Amino acid sequence: MDKKSKEKLLKELEILRAQNTALKSELAEAKEINEAANQLKSMFLANISHEIRTPMNGIIGMYNVLKQTELTAEQREFLDIINVSGNNLLTIIDDILDLSRIEANQLKLEMNNFSLSKEILDVKSLLSNKAKGKGIELISEINTNVPNELIGDEIRLKQIITNLTNNAIKYTKEGSVTIRVEVENLDHKKGTFKFSVIDTGIGISEEDKEKLFQAFSQIDSTTTRKYGGTGLGLAIAKNLTSLMNGEIGVDSVVGRGSTFWFTANLQIQDVEHVKEVKKEITKTTRKPEKKLSILLVEDNLLNQKFAMATLKKEGHSIDIAENGRVAIKLFKKNYYDLILMDIQMPVMDGIEATNEIRELEKDKTDKDKIKIIAITAYVMERDRNMCLSAGMDEYLAKPFKPKELLNLIDFVQDN
Ligand code: ADP
Repeated sequence: MDKKSKEKLLKELEILRAQNTALKSELAEAKEINEAANQLKSMFLANISHEIRTPMNGIIGMYNVLKQTELTAEQREFLDIINVSGNNLLTIIDDILDLSRIEANQLKLEMNNFSLSKEILDVKSLLSNKAKGKGIELISEINTNVPNELIGDEIRLKQIITNLTNNAIKYTKEGSVTIRVEVENLDHKKGTFKFSVIDTGIGISEEDKEKLFQAFSQIDSTTTRKYGGTGLGLAIAKNLTSLMNGEIGVDSVVGRGSTFWFTANLQIQDVEHVKEVKKEITKTTRKPEKKLSILLVEDNLLNQKFAMATLKKEGHSIDIAENGRVAIKLFKKNYYDLILMDIQMPVMDGIEATNEIRELEKDKTDKDKIKIIAITAYVMERDRNMCLSAGMDEYLAKPFKPKELLNLIDFVQDN
């Protein structure tokens, strides 16, 4: 090669290098923009879901109040339709919220002590009517080498199993649905467990399997029309399993049925922990409690009515404050056992009011301080932390069922 050609080649190489560097930085920039847009989308979805949850609380709450009044059979039927539609809408909102929380890295798994057989039983009792209605047998098989007392996020674990089992029932005309739990790996402190949901339903073709586990992905639109659903369930399940350091997959034969499976890494409780579980369980068992004097801080009229109806039925007496400022005034004047505190309110919000109340109580021992439960439609992890770090004792997300509120009140009183 002569000197001239060599110089030309070197120059071209130089240009290519420069182009490569420019491309790389463009790519990094595009990636950054994409991530920011994605973050924005997740925040938008989370906010929208929050805005919808507040009126939903009024609708579902009023259903619960109205249900207890005298109604004709026809009115009861109409009311049931409102309830079913309301709950369906809430499931969709929850799914969207879950997915946006996962995408915004806002969803953190909890580490709780739980009993595996109880969680599986919960799934079965939740879905047994649906299965029975279709004449499908719902079976559970927990292998004998699976330890029962585990540590992990039982709510999220149950969410995945419920979702897969619900699908299995939905896409099965006859036969059975089996929930199976097996050990993949085990030592004395932790294990990898395999959960399978086996159905004898319509099955999924090889080609369609590839479309699964992606958000808003349903095999075809006729499926949606026939069976309903949003196509978010499996995408959420996939994200949740990866948070549990597990995997998810499906084996299926068209016309014969499908086996959806996932693995999860969970810790195993030691004897000390088992004692704790017993304490946890009392959290959900209602027992007759003393009548309380409660201050309800809430600006929304519908939510006030719903909470009043729920609490009065238990014999508690309630004062209402429509914002944090009024709440502080009443708190200084009267004795209360408990405050139920909304977060977003005009004049003074729940966080500021709690800060002021805790300041007023700064010379009291923790035991003597008033219990404050946050009741809010904000359900992001950081909102929960914000409430707890402002000095609140517990946190309840709207919309809630009467029993959830009453259980939480009992729990706060006991601890
Ligand atoms: P949804 O059930 O809300 O549509 P999913 O993400 O849970 O959303 O499921 C996505 C799709 O996967 C469903 O629309 C359905 O076509 C298919 N699918 C899920 N589970 C089963 C199953 N057990 N048998 C057959 N098809 C299934």
